[in-house]
Amino acid sequence: MRDITTEIEGRLSGVGCSCHPVMPRTARALVTEGDAPQVLLEVLKELGLSGPVALAYDEVTYSVLASSIEGFLRSRGIEVVGFSVSRADEGNALRLKELMGRASVGVAVGGGTVIDVCKLAAHWSGKPFISVPTTLSHDGIASPVASVAFRGRSHRASVPATGPVAVVADAGVLSSSPRRLKAAGAGDLLAKLTALKDWELGELHAGEIVCRRAYAAELEAIECAIDFVYGGMRDALVLLRGLLLSGAAMALVGSSRPASGSEHMISHQIDALGKSKGLHGEQVALATVLMSRYHQSHNGGWWRDPRFSWGSVLELLSVAGAPTSFLELGLTREDVVEAVLRAPEVRPERTTLLHLKRPGRETVSELLEETGIC
Ligand SMILES: [Zn+2]
Ligand SMILES: [Zn+2]
Repeated sequence: MRDITTEIEGRLSGVGCSCHPVMPRTARALVTEGDAPQVLLEVLKELGLSGPVALAYDEVTYSVLASSIEGFLRSRGIEVVGFSVSRADEGNALRLKELMGRASVGVAVGGGTVIDVCKLAAHWSGKPFISVPTTLSHDGIASPVASVAFRGRSHRASVPATGPVAVVADAGVLSSSPRRLKAAGAGDLLAKLTALKDWELGELHAGEIVCRRAYAAELEAIECAIDFVYGGMRDALVLLRGLLLSGAAMALVGSSRPASGSEHMISHQIDALGKSKGLHGEQVALATVLMSRYHQSHNGGWWRDPRFSWGSVLELLSVAGAPTSFLELGLTREDVVEAVLRAPEVRPERTTLLHLKRPGRETVSELLEETGIC
C-alpha cells in the first residue's frame, strides 16, 4: 500500500493563498496493490468507524471489487449492508441515505454513478464516505460535487455534496480499466485549461476570489493529463494523481469553480439534448477545444504555453484515441451550436467568457468549422 496523501497535500501547500492561510487537510489517498479490502479495513479502524458499513456498488463493480470487500469485512465481524446503484438519480440517493443513516460510514465502489450517489447520500445523512474508484473517467472520484438527475429528469445536475474522507485506489483494477475511460479522464483534466481562464475572468470582471492553491493544483492536474497521454497511457497512477488534485482543488474552495467553466456548461447542455453517446470527459474535452479557440481571440490573458493551445488539445485527444469530433458522439453541428448558445443558462450567476461575450449562431458555427470538431 502506498500513502500518497502527503504528495497531494504537498502540491497544494507549495503555493500560498490569502483565502487559506492554513492549508486544510485533504482526503486520505491510498494506492493498494490487490489488497484494497485489507487497506479499507485499516482506514475504517483509523477513522474509528467500526460499522455497520453501507456498501454501494453496481453490477459490474460488485464482481470486480465490491464482493471481495463485502466478504472480507464480514469475515472480520463488520456488518455490511449492500446497495446496488442502478442510476445516478435522486431516488437512489434517498434510498442510500436511509441505509447510511443507520450505518457509520458509506463506501462507494465504482465509477461516476455509484460515487455520485454516495456523495449526495453522505451529504444528506451527515455520515462520512470512502471512495473506492474502479475507473478514472472524471475528477468526481474525490470532489465534493455530485452529478445526479433530479425530479425524474433524464439528465444530471451538479449539486454541492460531501467529498470523501478517504480514497482507496486499487492500482491493478484502475490499470486494467478500459482505455476509453482513461482517455475520458484525461479529457476532464484538459478542461481545466478553459475552466481556469474562465475563473480568472470571474476575478477580473466580478471580483471573485481565485484561490492560488486550487489554481496551482488544477494546473498540475493538466500536466498529469499531458504526461499520462504522452507517456503511452500506461501509468494509471499519473492520471489518478491528476484527478485527485482536481478533487482536492474543488474541496478547497467548496465548489466546482476551479474545475468547471464554460466547457462544462456546454457539455451539460449536450446532456440535456439527450442524444450524445459521449462520456462526460469526451464531451468536455471537445468543448475545451472550442472554448480555447474562442478564448484565444477574446481573452488577452489566454495561456502563452503552446502546449495549451486548442490545436495541442486536439492533438492530445487524437493521441489518446479519444473522439476528435462531436459527430463521433452522434451529434450534428446544429446540436452543438444550440448547446453552446444555451450554455450560459446552466449557471447564469457564474462569469465565463461565454457569459461576458455571448457568441451568435454564425460565430459558433465558424469556430466549429475552423477547429474541425464538428
Ligand atoms: Zn468534469
Ligand atoms: Zn485559498
